[in-house]
Amino acid sequence: MFNQDMQKLGAARSAIRELFEYGNARKKEIGAENVYDFSIGNPNVPAPACVTDEMLRLIREMPAEKLHGYSSAPGLPEVRAAVANYIQSAFGVPMSADLVYMTCGASASLTGILSAMLLPGEEVIVPAPFFPEYSVFVGQAGGKLVKVATDPRFHLDLEAIEGAITPRTKAVLVNSPNNPTGAVYSEEEMRGLGRLLERKNIGRKTPIFLIADEPYRELCYVDPPVFPMAVYPHTVVLYSFSKSISLAGERIGYIAVSPQCAGAKDLFDAVCGAGRAHGFVCAPTLFQRVAANCLGQVSDVGAYKANRDLLYGALSDMGYTCSVPEGAFYLFMKALEPDAKAFCERAKAHELLLVPSDSFGVGGYVRISFCVARSVIERSLPAFAALFQEYGA
Ligand code: PLP
Repeated sequence: MFNQDMQKLGAARSAIRELFEYGNARKKEIGAENVYDFSIGNPNVPAPACVTDEMLRLIREMPAEKLHGYSSAPGLPEVRAAVANYIQSAFGVPMSADLVYMTCGASASLTGILSAMLLPGEEVIVPAPFFPEYSVFVGQAGGKLVKVATDPRFHLDLEAIEGAITPRTKAVLVNSPNNPTGAVYSEEEMRGLGRLLERKNIGRKTPIFLIADEPYRELCYVDPPVFPMAVYPHTVVLYSFSKSISLAGERIGYIAVSPQCAGAKDLFDAVCGAGRAHGFVCAPTLFQRVAANCLGQVSDVGAYKANRDLLYGALSDMGYTCSVPEGAFYLFMKALEPDAKAFCERAKAHELLLVPSDSFGVGGYVRISFCVARSVIERSLPAFAALFQEYGA
């Protein structure tokens, strides 16, 4: 009677959301301090002061009809101009306000660009592990997600990407700093990817596009990643203020189509069309203004780094095999048995809420979100040690 695909999607919540809801119920039962909830990537570090300052200033100074009114669908002209200027000056690449579309966060940026870009059955290559919603978003846009392996450090495997390219390949979708592995792709590997795509474009009518999903761009513990538009012309950058300035619930981000992209204007029109078809009337106007006035600001990355050091150090000392997070706020750890779901169930008995890696496109690992209070990590360590001992490892 209803749309079966939608019903299925809604009934089977994502593994992350499922665990998050379980955690909330469990906290009510036994007290929040007794549950070690590492399920979701909800930033715990407060937004930088500019966010509150700008919110208060705008609320006081803006006429009401402007403050809460609609903007044009792609966003306020002055906000789109501010984003374009920021990209030009921070990353030294050409950018035009006409090619910036303000969205309700990276999720909306992804659904917008994928619907705009994909013809039925076209393929999007994604290095695994990857953010689970990519499968939903690519599928909903009528495309096919083609998963490729990464190297042992979860960095790009260019040979695997080359091997996956077919005449139906429309785009390669990369996410660095990465959720769930924390990998930050080096300038060299991104330039290598750019060269590979240029080579594969020879003889093609339409180039392969590079979609860079960058909600964690500034959350980096190594050299910051190169700006993808600087390594490849046919690039679209998807950004979100959810993580960098801790505005996950406010739903604000953007799509930036490089002016050097083949058919940039047509692609941008298609993004506007996708927004219209999806009913995204406009991104929240208050937060368009706040974000534009806080460009370049970042929440306290030092707090995440301190969490990373504590967790990575302690778990490695206990004997767990972890990959060192170079960015974002996730630690990817090998499960102590091949079945990551079974391992996470046993972890739950110790009140440790870890996300099994299966929905990220690989088996045998867990994701630990360390955007939590330091005290949660400190209190969880005996539970991690007990879990390790239980396996006689
Ligand atoms: N892309 C990646 C890699 C993410 O990790 C997330 C959220 O966790 C998103 C996109 C969606 O972010 P937003 O809250 O901006 O929609």
